[in-house]
Amino acid sequence: MKLFIQVLLFSFLAVSLAAQSNQSSQLDKPYVILISCDGYRYDYTTRFHPPNIGRFIEEGVQAASMIPSFPSKTFPNHYTIATGLYPENHGLVDNTFYDPGRGELYKISKRSAVEDGSWYGGTPLWVKAEQNGMVAASYFFVGSEAGIQGVRPSYYFPYDGYVPNEKRVEQVLQWLQLPEVQRPHFIAMYFSTMDDAGHRYGPSDEQPIQQALMELDTVLGQLFDGVKASGLPVNIIIVSDHGMVDVGPDKLINIDPLAQESQYLIANNGALAHVYLKDGANADSAYLFLKSRENHFKAWRSAEFPAYRTGGKNPRLGDFILIPEFGYYLSDSRRIAQVRNNNFKQGGEHGFDPEFLEMHAIFYANGPAFKTGLAIPSFRNIHVYPLICRILGLPIPPGIDGKEEVLRGILKD
Ligand code: AMP
Ligand code: ZN
Ligand code: ZN
Repeated sequence: MKLFIQVLLFSFLAVSLAAQSNQSSQLDKPYVILISCDGYRYDYTTRFHPPNIGRFIEEGVQAASMIPSFPSKTFPNHYTIATGLYPENHGLVDNTFYDPGRGELYKISKRSAVEDGSWYGGTPLWVKAEQNGMVAASYFFVGSEAGIQGVRPSYYFPYDGYVPNEKRVEQVLQWLQLPEVQRPHFIAMYFSTMDDAGHRYGPSDEQPIQQALMELDTVLGQLFDGVKASGLPVNIIIVSDHGMVDVGPDKLINIDPLAQESQYLIANNGALAHVYLKDGANADSAYLFLKSRENHFKAWRSAEFPAYRTGGKNPRLGDFILIPEFGYYLSDSRRIAQVRNNNFKQGGEHGFDPEFLEMHAIFYANGPAFKTGLAIPSFRNIHVYPLICRILGLPIPPGIDGKEEVLRGILKD
């Protein structure tokens, strides 16, 4: 019954929000599908040879890897790809963080926050498109459920990880079959298959990672076939948000004893934890206390941590951050007990400094705008935004972190 209501609600959303239409100046523009494969590590393709992705790359462009922004977590990186801004600049600094100004916590399981556009800075691609009279659509891309600057894509769905991948592909192909006035020119979509397998088994566990990749490859193959059959000038860009590294159950660090300190709040994301001083707390003594408890992790002043590329000054980062040694993970008594009792399988994690190759993501592209058979070196994920703006003829917002020059060479002249 609940499922039935959800299906009804989804159909209603998809139809009722299809209000926008392409302005005449946008009708002849090409199409872009931006596909995110969460947790697809840069080396999975060469390790496992997925056939459809392999052909896609051969006839298109591939980067040696795409370098995520810090922290290499899902929400900050999807939203960096969507905005061309580093997380410190777009404001989604982690999957879980506190905003001292608002006095509120953001976390990805809190629907009221995820759907509240006031948390999100920058101008995501679908907002940029809609603002320029171009219809946009999203099947679960991070941020697209929120009204950002009061704008959502013409077509979108609230996140539901149980929707089968095939259904997502069918919907995208249906969008491409709409009459041209309603047909979205920018489409974002999302698959969590590789992230799910990577967390559960760890990236070194060949068989389950390969199996997950083949499943994903099959649905991507259906998408490629459908796009080809449409006859439309569609450019497909496949990215991921980050990689994955093995973190076994013995590498979990219990930070509950630190969290009991009354001078600060902690937002723990595993590969890093943000520490926010409470009003009146003494910063030096809190810092010394955290330093004195270092054990397979280090305490840093946020503004001094080198992986923040713009100075680490956003208050949402916290006063201090705790960084585990690579391959260790900050956890708590409850989670550690679940793992020990075999109620939770602990295999892989991410979130670490992008300087570690294991955290690197993918970038593959194919379509009429792209050169064929081109391999390029690794680049940072801030640069995808201006590439897509250029293909779609959308203005690039001034002051973004991504630079158009970085990827211009992958486009045909
Ligand atoms: P993580 O591995 O913790 O960085 O986050 C990955 C998880 O984020 C996936 O398992 C997804 O289920 C979840 N996720 C992805 N997009 C959304 C969304 N729009 N809303 C809520 N959760 C999401
Ligand atoms: Zn992710
Ligand atoms: Zn993940």
